[in-house]
Amino acid sequence: MIGRPVSVSAAVTTIPSVVVDRVRDGLVHGLGSGIPFLDLPFSCPEITALMADVEMRLRRVLDIPPDYEVLFAQGGAYAHFALVAMNLLAEGEVADYVETGLWARRAIDEAAKVALVTVAASSAGNGYRAIPPVGEWRLSPDAAYLHITSTESAQGVQFRDFPELSGGPLVADMTGDFLTRPIDVSRFGLIYASAQKSLGAAGLTIVIIRRDLLRPHAAAIPAVFDYRRLVEARSRVNTPPVFALYLADEMLRWIEGEGGLPELAERRGRRCERLYRLLDSSPIFRCRVRPEYRSAVSLCFDAVDPGRHAAILGAAAAHGLEYLDGHPAVGGFRLAIHNGHAEDDIDRIAEFLESIK
Ligand SMILES: *Cc1c(COP(=O)(O)O)cnc(C)c1O
Repeated sequence: MIGRPVSVSAAVTTIPSVVVDRVRDGLVHGLGSGIPFLDLPFSCPEITALMADVEMRLRRVLDIPPDYEVLFAQGGAYAHFALVAMNLLAEGEVADYVETGLWARRAIDEAAKVALVTVAASSAGNGYRAIPPVGEWRLSPDAAYLHITSTESAQGVQFRDFPELSGGPLVADMTGDFLTRPIDVSRFGLIYASAQKSLGAAGLTIVIIRRDLLRPHAAAIPAVFDYRRLVEARSRVNTPPVFALYLADEMLRWIEGEGGLPELAERRGRRCERLYRLLDSSPIFRCRVRPEYRSAVSLCFDAVDPGRHAAILGAAAAHGLEYLDGHPAVGGFRLAIHNGHAEDDIDRIAEFLESIK
């Protein structure tokens, strides 16, 4: 094996080693209080200041306009598949969904349990290899919102650009590519993302919502999942996920120190281009997704000879690359490129892809 093993899993992010060092230290010294971080009650001034800092940094990094609220919710994106519908829909209202892969499908299924939803477009028929062309979306004239999934981390498709549409606001599950590129937040009514794919630890779900969408809704919602209550309580209806917030704060500091999202997106672009070029020129591998829809976060591909799958996974592990296996629902291989990967990690991945003959 070559050095320490590297995870290429799309299920979690990669924490840069400098962030790991800072957090290890912080756990002991506790935000300057001298009390170990996990011994701090959530209502203490240090945690209050920490939460304000995470919000400030998130607003700065994503350039979030002032008419948006930033919520630190829990439950993961999977919980918010239904919660978004419960929080946004008034009595009798419907929402449109675009089905682009496994996560969009789950968002539709969960929302359909609590609300009226319609599937405006789907790429299920072609195995989710492309995003349905916007011109073919059959939008409901009176939909309260249109839901998209910015990156399908299981299938490896990504919206490179977001559709310009009239009608209800755009709602996006951005878990798959949150904080990987600059986005124009003002084009969305609501954005939600689980933290573990970009900010560190599971347990924290970021919800960014335009204030005018915090209206009376049809559903009876438990207080901890009610976006209006979360706004009023400054995300402290109950105990917030303080460790995940602490890690998020350190990740945001790191992102800013690296030059922010424009710099990280450019770096990612170079890295992806290099790796997709290797995959496309390899006689062993085949990319599943059409080039214009390929994800810059989650690269999904197959062995041309499926009989070699297990041996290739073994070779990856011997090269120090762990968790290359595709999503269980999809198969094949999946290679996630995270903000926190070092250039050395990318070199190692490239060497591995070239070594398979
Ligand atoms: C991982 C993922 C989810 C699920 O996140 P949980 O935190 O496990 O609920 C939802 N959507 C997308 C796009 C994802 O990549």
